[in-house]
Amino acid sequence: GQYTSQKVRRTFIEFFTEQHRHRAVPSAPVRPRGDPSLLFVNAGMNQFKPILLGCADPRSEMASYQRVVNSQKCVRAGGKHNDLDDVGRDVYHHTFFEMLGNWSFGDYFKVEACAMAWHLLTEVYEIPAERLYVSYFSGDAASGLPADEETRHIWLSLGLRPDHVLPFGMKDNFWEMGETGPCGPCTEIHYDHVGTRNAAALVNADSPDVVEIWNLVFMQYNREGDGGLRALPQCSVDTGMGLERLLTVLQGKRSNYDTDLFTPLLSAIHQVTRGAPAYSGRTEQTDAGRVDMAYRVVADHVRTLSVCIADGVYPGMTGAELVLRRILRRAVRFSTEVLHAPEGALASLVPTVAHILVSGVSVPQSSHPVQFTVATRWLLAICKCIQINSGFKLYCWSRSTAAVAWSLHRNLGFPLDLIDLMLEERNMAVDKHGVEQLAAEQEQLQSQSEGGAEERGLHMDLQSLAELQSRGVPHTNDSPKYSYSL
Ligand code: ATP
Ligand code: MG
Ligand code: MG
Ligand code: MG
Repeated sequence: GQYTSQKVRRTFIEFFTEQHRHRAVPSAPVRPRGDPSLLFVNAGMNQFKPILLGCADPRSEMASYQRVVNSQKCVRAGGKHNDLDDVGRDVYHHTFFEMLGNWSFGDYFKVEACAMAWHLLTEVYEIPAERLYVSYFSGDAASGLPADEETRHIWLSLGLRPDHVLPFGMKDNFWEMGETGPCGPCTEIHYDHVGTRNAAALVNADSPDVVEIWNLVFMQYNREGDGGLRALPQCSVDTGMGLERLLTVLQGKRSNYDTDLFTPLLSAIHQVTRGAPAYSGRTEQTDAGRVDMAYRVVADHVRTLSVCIADGVYPGMTGAELVLRRILRRAVRFSTEVLHAPEGALASLVPTVAHILVSGVSVPQSSHPVQFTVATRWLLAICKCIQINSGFKLYCWSRSTAAVAWSLHRNLGFPLDLIDLMLEERNMAVDKHGVEQLAAEQEQLQSQSEGGAEERGLHMDLQSLAELQSRGVPHTNDSPKYSYSL
């Protein structure tokens, strides 16, 4: 296709910076900062929540934001927005995806937001208007929320046919960030991939033929802890469009996995399998369909794992870490059991993910190649461990469980509680007393041999990489001179 992922992203950013005076800001890391209501960043607006709530530190740069645009790394695998179960089954939900967004904080509102979106889609990206449908909020008597007739009229005045402007209720057209937080009625743009007569009936119906691409939220309320809605100090606009879905439309494909964000990764997966057939895009419940689903799951999950680890979220025991651990398990299961890839295969895919995402500054600034190196090394270590773990029983004939657990911990940087859990699944238990003894012996050895520098290996290696990550890499969204350039 004429549009590459890089060009689509750049065109979006430039439309808002050059034609509509928006300021480009970098993606925040996927680990939410100081927001316990979230497991992962699930939308572009997360980092702007303080502005929407009217509580941004007045000395911060953010306080001066009026119009901004970005491409945000999002993960929807837990909490209110959890798409894990759809991934692989359909061709347009990912656990990790990029959300293109523009915002107005107390600046423009509905008329301008709709007009900008419409012009960008139909005139810049040149998507035929007859393929686009929009939905608007039909109101909710129980919450005392009125229908958004204003937005319906705006779309009609922009030239949409009345049968392309459709009302929907709370579930689809009242957007909320989580159990609490900013929210409001929204209007969404859907694309008809087929050009069928009954497309209107397929809007918001989980059909691969008519897919939602862009959500324009009119932020007017905050959902409080007690479930009530409080009016926000000012009205804002918050939009989000899935880059992968838009790219699919612009490349004339039917599946996100057939675009340049995925095809190199699917080929790389094919190369590491031991003779699995190549990806062929099927979604039926047949043997071929199951193999293709495994390809999609592995491609999706390895992206998520790479980006999360690069942003400092490691598979672990609670919260987001636990979710990531489940994703890791699923990725290992599908790649080894369905695609017959060797256990270490996952790690070998990280460079391909990094290349696709970093080469075009596709994940602006906050993901750096060094961070992806950390992800590769970490996945290598964990795959090694899974391998060791599957041979664990054998291993334990000759050594105590304590010795094995301790070696996993010392040499591969494995958290002891994670080892506990892995063994529990195999009806085994670590001799905790033995581990404590080994730890104490180690400590003593170390204090005797001044620093214990001889004990290097992967554990140290990972630590130094993590250190590099914490020191050398801009890991924040507070860089003052960000400019989006390719
Ligand atoms: P859907 O109804 O398809 O699940 P949504 O209504 O949950 O999407 P929004 O919260 O409105 O999605 O997010 C804004 C945009 O982000 C969507 O219009 C879509 O383009 C994109 N998007 C949302 N979830 C995903 C996902 N899991 N994978 C890829 N893109 C997504
Ligand atoms: Mg959804
Ligand atoms: Mg939706
Ligand atoms: Mg939506």
